[in-house]
Amino acid sequence: MTSTHSKWLDAELKYDSGVYNKHEVVMVRGQGAQVWDENGKAYIDCVVGYGVATIGHSHPDVVKAVQEQAARLMVMPQTLPNDKRAEFLQELVSVLPQGLERVFLCNSGTEAMEAAKKFAITGTGRKRFVSMKRGFSGRSLGALAFTWEPKYREPFGEAVDNRNVDFVTYGDIEGLRAAVTEETAAVILEPVQGEGGVRPASPEFLQEARRITKEKGALLILDEIQTGFCRTGKMFASEHSGVIPDGMTLAKAMAGGVPIGAFVMTQEVANKMPSGGHGTTFGGNPLSMAAGVAAIRAMKREGMAEQAREKGEYMMEKLRAIGSPKIREVRGLGLMIGVELKEKSAPYIHALEHDEGVLTLAATPLVVRFLPPATITKEQIDQVVAAFERVLKNVSPREERQAELAAANKEDAQTE
Ligand SMILES: *Cc1c(COP(=O)(O)O)cnc(C)c1O
Repeated sequence: MTSTHSKWLDAELKYDSGVYNKHEVVMVRGQGAQVWDENGKAYIDCVVGYGVATIGHSHPDVVKAVQEQAARLMVMPQTLPNDKRAEFLQELVSVLPQGLERVFLCNSGTEAMEAAKKFAITGTGRKRFVSMKRGFSGRSLGALAFTWEPKYREPFGEAVDNRNVDFVTYGDIEGLRAAVTEETAAVILEPVQGEGGVRPASPEFLQEARRITKEKGALLILDEIQTGFCRTGKMFASEHSGVIPDGMTLAKAMAGGVPIGAFVMTQEVANKMPSGGHGTTFGGNPLSMAAGVAAIRAMKREGMAEQAREKGEYMMEKLRAIGSPKIREVRGLGLMIGVELKEKSAPYIHALEHDEGVLTLAATPLVVRFLPPATITKEQIDQVVAAFERVLKNVSPREERQAELAAANKEDAQTE
């Protein structure tokens, strides 16, 4: 391993809280599907900020919108209406599934989950929730209650109160039916589990979840934080099954790279939250609103959903054609792709970054996750797949152990 003497890396390691397992590299620039480190080395980015830059890094429309808005007005609280916020709300609601027409604006996925939780309680007058095994909902104490993986919750003991949450096996229709009662405020699930290993739900499971929640008077809330905004080949992953939920949590790709979050819901749910029942200072700020307008328009104009669908199919086909005995399964939807290995993925992820200049991330210890932008070219996909084929071949069992040490804990570095 090269010992780095980057002053930037040193400063990050010295001053950051220490919750992240930092890679030995300093990224300084991005464009489309590429990023560059401080030494000018180029990488093909199949992480894009955990699925944020779905329209590509520094999309020119978003850059222009942010520059213009920064010079005009950056902050305005939500009690004071703003032209960009109004424009964004119109733009967002125009792409939402029918019936979702009220929006709570915030700044991240976790905040969107927190809002969903509160709106579900006031919206139904109930307090119990059903969440999914292997599900991921964010890191605040409230959102953690819906997150299944114990390692995210255990350090905080009883501060994470999930006594009112029942976990059901993802895809288990009978289990879901048994768990949802007249006390259930909402069922919360990701249409494709991201952190949980890139697992698409079957359309039947989502359709049954819709039917069961309706029967019991509970809300169906889809966490589309990672799947939304073209990632899976549709504007929202729910469109693959035709299921229309009562609410959706949104964030990551919504503003093309600028922090943003939203809980979107029906009139009925919104109407039951008392005025002043929730709020946030930065939510709906004109800067992120301008970025969001530009990002959603770019998605529509450039047919990003269709691009993600087509390129996702191409990429999965090529990944399946590798045919390595180390691969257990290639699965995904659109450009949300997971390759489950028969061994730990960390050494391969490390080798891809270090030796091949390809950024990927883990999703559970066995899965290599690919979240490239919809703007990635077929040539770049070919390069990524060829690089993956090489590391699968070249990382020998001994190197694997060494790389595993070097990449120690990286599998735990799921920082979303
Ligand atoms: C990333 C993610 C979150 C959390 O969003 P943050 O913006 O990191 O707070 C919640 N749910 C899912 C499905 C996610 O992928």
